[in-house]
Amino acid sequence: MEDSHGRNINYLRVSLTDRCNLRCMYCMPEGKCNQNYVSSKMSIEEIDLIIRIFAEYGVEKVRFTGGEPLIVKDISKIIYNASQVKGIKDISLTTNGIFLKDKIDELKKAGLNRVNVSMDTLKEDKYERITGRSYLKKVKEGIEVCLDKGITPVKINVVLMKGINLDEVDEFIKIAEKMPIDVRFIELMPIGAGTELFKNHFIPYKDIVESHHNLIPEDHRVSSTAELYKSSKGKGRIGFISPLSCNFCSECNRVRLTAEGGIKSCLHGEEEINILSDVRDLLKKYNLSYCDLRESREYSILKKKILGAMYNKPLGHRLSMEGKSRSNKQMFQIGG
Ligand code: SAM
Ligand code: SF4
Repeated sequence: MEDSHGRNINYLRVSLTDRCNLRCMYCMPEGKCNQNYVSSKMSIEEIDLIIRIFAEYGVEKVRFTGGEPLIVKDISKIIYNASQVKGIKDISLTTNGIFLKDKIDELKKAGLNRVNVSMDTLKEDKYERITGRSYLKKVKEGIEVCLDKGITPVKINVVLMKGINLDEVDEFIKIAEKMPIDVRFIELMPIGAGTELFKNHFIPYKDIVESHHNLIPEDHRVSSTAELYKSSKGKGRIGFISPLSCNFCSECNRVRLTAEGGIKSCLHGEEEINILSDVRDLLKKYNLSYCDLRESREYSILKKKILGAMYNKPLGHRLSMEGKSRSNKQMFQIGG
């Protein structure tokens, strides 16, 4: 559907949990992160009903994220249900990749189309410094298995940080040259724990582009958040996700569902509409009798809330002007 600014909103990102098996320094740093966040209470049925309503309003793509979506026990069932929803054409996952190798067969069978794996370094000791854990080998194996299984494209997300992993840009570009992998460098965002690191570690994407003459720009695709480049030798592409340097708000096509069942129509906005209790009450009252449920007054009220959240999506965020996110939620609650 078109929002009040004429953008076609067709992409829903669902955070399935606010828990994670890593402690990334810019997201959920060890010891500094309040551990009292409530883990997602959305059930399979609740997630399914919410996705169905979004699909009725024109959502075609769903991305599952978190926290870490692969620690969610029912992830394959959730993906399967989404794949059965009329109108949903594309299902993807953003993951830290630790459990990919173990789960990729069942995820693919369930209907998963695409995977983004977050891997900020290629070096074991640095991986431990950034994430607090030593799982790099498992992540690399997960990426290889995805390629073997024909998942395309596989994308690697790299949050670039001055003084931490900036020296590895060339190594990451080589990966996109040698393999059918898209490497996407993400600008560090001043949200949650990232706010503290921002001052010393932020690096604007243009600095990388200017120092890498082998990067050839590709045509910008409408509603892509990434500026895309190809290396002269490349199989895969290099993308820059740069919400600060270059913002794509005027083309943004996405809405987000937080782990607690809140709709956030802008990642960095303060607006959030929680629908979980409405969804829960409905399912309880109609006990999965979907025909009766769909006829009910409560269902139309819920649909109106969702429609309103989509239609009133803010025009843009003010990250670069204000230097910090207005979001009341952190990245691991929203899903990125
Ligand atoms: N756990 C999964 C993962 O790491 O891929 C999914 C959730 S994570 C919140 C989604 C994405 O947000 C990851 O690529 C992560 O690197 C990115 N992210 C988290 N905090 C960030 C920050 N402050 N700035 C930029 N990217 C961030
Ligand atoms: Fe976990 Fe992803 Fe956040 Fe890292 S970025 S702590 S993997 S949710």
